[in-house]
Amino acid sequence: MTAATLVRSLLLALPALLVAGACLLLQAPAGATALAVGLAAFAPTLRSLLKTERHRKAAARRSQAFAQALIDAIPDPTYVKQHGGRYVMVNEAFARYHGVSRQQVLEEGVVGRTCGNASHALSLQEDEQVLAGADLTKEEHTIRRHTGEEVYRIISKHRSMGMDGQPVVVGIDHHITEWRVAERELKQSLEREVALRKRTEQFVQDLIDLLPDAIYIKDAHSRLVMVNATAVRLRGMSREALIGLNAMDLAPRPGVGETSLAEDQLVLQGQEIVKEEQSVLPLTGEECFRVVVKRRCFDVDGQPVVVSIQHYITEWRQAERALNRLAQEDALTGIANRRCFSAEAERAMHTAERHGLPLTLLLVDVDHFKRVNDEHGHNVGDEVLVELARRLREVLRKSDLGGRWGGEEFIALLHGPPDAALGFAERLRRSVADQPFPTSAGPLHITLSGGFAGHRTGDSLSALVGRADQALYVAKSQGRNRVQAEAAP
Ligand code: GH3
Ligand code: MG
Ligand code: MG
Repeated sequence: MTAATLVRSLLLALPALLVAGACLLLQAPAGATALAVGLAAFAPTLRSLLKTERHRKAAARRSQAFAQALIDAIPDPTYVKQHGGRYVMVNEAFARYHGVSRQQVLEEGVVGRTCGNASHALSLQEDEQVLAGADLTKEEHTIRRHTGEEVYRIISKHRSMGMDGQPVVVGIDHHITEWRVAERELKQSLEREVALRKRTEQFVQDLIDLLPDAIYIKDAHSRLVMVNATAVRLRGMSREALIGLNAMDLAPRPGVGETSLAEDQLVLQGQEIVKEEQSVLPLTGEECFRVVVKRRCFDVDGQPVVVSIQHYITEWRQAERALNRLAQEDALTGIANRRCFSAEAERAMHTAERHGLPLTLLLVDVDHFKRVNDEHGHNVGDEVLVELARRLREVLRKSDLGGRWGGEEFIALLHGPPDAALGFAERLRRSVADQPFPTSAGPLHITLSGGFAGHRTGDSLSALVGRADQALYVAKSQGRNRVQAEAAP
């Protein structure tokens, strides 16, 4: 039976009830009779009415229980609120989260003390908006007052119709704390990783900047990813400008870039390159020598990179060159010294003997050189020796060897037999005798004497020089300013 049927039944029974009521007031027997008659007429209707009401209540209880069971199945705190913020239904998850019993919430209509609570006021305001038809979904980050626990929730509120036909707010607080905390931790760990990576890179940069060698670090495409301070200084370019350039961009001349690229590929496959290079400094164009070591290593992402270490040895090579020169050249005249001449002469004699080629050795000595020193001083004597070495070099052919044998004696090993050497020796003698030597003491007239000997099979250098020296002795004894062949064997 509906409420409307109930009202209609009550209206039908109303006259009889009014009569009965009046009789009771007047204590009239007729009235009492009328009441009895009225009640008797109404009894069946009332019984049916009460029965229908019991059914309705039972159905309402079942609906309520079903609705409760439904929302209890929802794992997130879920509630139904009336206008004014009163809770009329909450689920188990809601009661659990708020630490209260469901009964308590329904009896009191509120959760905890809400007086003066700003968030409660805001919630009420939202409820009003939802009841007016707006949907609400928002994320909220709160710290729970009693436990200090951090909570992230997606709060959603929707309008619905209650069982009494009045609009209600249906809300679900979807808890996402675990995800948000995990997300935040992930973000923090990423930030920590980025910071660590930056510090590591800076440390590596600082470390390589301390090294005096030029260091280039290249990726798998031979592009520079890191360079140290020495490389920056030698290239005369900023670090930023260098990063990203590849071997072709850096090559000083054609071909170099291609070689470097090919080497880088070998290094990336695990090989090691160690080589010495003669090159020019990119900035100044000066000649330089360096030892280049290329090795593979792996960067912070585990990617292979080529580490090229360029150790400059220019100073050592230049010093070595100077030492070699000193070891081979005569310090005063710059012509080959005795040791260098001897070594080269022995090699030439060996080759000539193997190929049956003739060689002639010429030994010359300045005439009366002591007098030059005595009359003009040792320095002028030196000037004469320097000029004599120059004239000797001038008449020597490329294939011939010349040197200072000692004191004012010079020596030459000439390709060709002695009679051919005679012409050369004469040319030298005349170039000395015919042109005065310019010195700081003025032009000096200088002569020399020479003796020459032909190379014989099995000859040692000293034997050959010995025979030339004998011939020289003859030239001296015959009056000087002349050249003399060795005596026939
Ligand atoms: P001769 O015609 O017989 O060769 O007479 P000479 O005076 O040249 O004789 P001698 O070989 O005895 O003298 C060579 C001199 O050369 C002696 C030495 O002081 C001088 N002398 C040797 N080496 C140098 C040098 O490097 N510089 C100078 N200024 N003099 C030197
Ligand atoms: Mg001498
Ligand atoms: Mg002499």
